Amino acid sequence: MSGDEIFRRELRQRMSGEILFDEPAERHTSIGVGGPIDALLFPEDTIEIKEIVHFLRGRQVPFLPVGNWTNLIVRDGGFRGALISLARLSGLSLREKGKEGVLLLAGAGCPLSELTSLAVREALTGMEFCAGIPGSVGGAIRMNAGAYGGEIKDIIESAILLDTSGVTRSAVREELHFTYRNLDLPAETIIIGATFLLRRGDGKRIVEHVRKNIEIRREKHPLEFRNAGSIFKNPRDCPAGRLIDESGLRGARIGDAQISEKHGNFIVNRGRATAEEILRLIALVQQRVFERTGHALETEVKIVGESRMIGGSADGLRIRL
Ligand SMILES: Cc1cc2nc3c(=O)[nH]c(=O)nc-3n(C[C@H](O)[C@H](O)[C@H](O)COP(=O)(O)OP(=O)(O)OC[C@H]3O[C@@H](n4cnc5c(N)ncnc54)[C@H](O)[C@@H]3O)c2cc1C
Repeated sequence: MSGDEIFRRELRQRMSGEILFDEPAERHTSIGVGGPIDALLFPEDTIEIKEIVHFLRGRQVPFLPVGNWTNLIVRDGGFRGALISLARLSGLSLREKGKEGVLLLAGAGCPLSELTSLAVREALTGMEFCAGIPGSVGGAIRMNAGAYGGEIKDIIESAILLDTSGVTRSAVREELHFTYRNLDLPAETIIIGATFLLRRGDGKRIVEHVRKNIEIRREKHPLEFRNAGSIFKNPRDCPAGRLIDESGLRGARIGDAQISEKHGNFIVNRGRATAEEILRLIALVQQRVFERTGHALETEVKIVGESRMIGGSADGLRIRL
């Protein structure tokens, strides 16, 4: 039996949850790209996550937690190691917190849309800005997701973290260092769940606010194509989308990867885009925007995995500007 087969067998022995070996990432990333993942794991609960993490660390196998894959580009060569999906940790409940409001307790894999729907049903205000953000609770915390003036850091009360020494602990808001689209976390720390504090509000106004935010998204975002949300962080003084427009890049295309004609900060997959095409388009935008405006755009989207070693060369790329 090869080392690889032994590793796979040992992994199976440690997990009751689903395991997919050599699973194409393109089946999961919202933008529809990415090569094979050595092992994609779906642990059923925190105990199983701990066990798996301990096992992977012991064998020095790289791993990364994933949520809803909506801010992620996996390169075409795939991921050597394990991606740990938090999807099965999707519990959601509610607890009164006296005059302060109501706490929502959610597993890291719970979709933000479920939290938002619960808040709307219960006439709780504070997370209307989340309406339409397609991430999971864990991903949204890691990315400090935000929109229309609100951010996760404004509503989070505490997070349950599995730290690098394999211990779970609760971290209150003051211990969590959020910045724009980021929570500072040591590498390999996994967010297991969180609590959010919301206030009682006016049900009708909350519904109206959520409806308006979703309408704006439908109007402005290219939801008809696969995408990964905003590709670049907004510089302090100007939205990235405007800089991209001003640099004449709206609609620019490399293969099937295209700067959206609807919104300059979205790259859409027009059919069979590869990660390489998307990354080349990202590099082109960074170069052109810097030349034209002096702004060095930083990616918001997370890029992981290996480049494809053979094939997929630049020769086949069709660049249209
Ligand atoms: C159409 C569209 C619209 C979007 N609009 C917005 C928007 O308005 N505002 C905004 O901020 N974002 C937006 N996004 C981006 C994305 O939805 C958010 O960043 C979201 O919070 C990512 O969550 P996820 O579960 O998909 O994370 P993933 O894409 O799965 O992962 C993102 C990062 O978080 C890490 N991560 C995931 N789960 C965990 C965990 N449990 N513990 C530790 N690390 C973890 C991953 O390792 C990775 O580094 C949009 C995306 C799309 C496709």
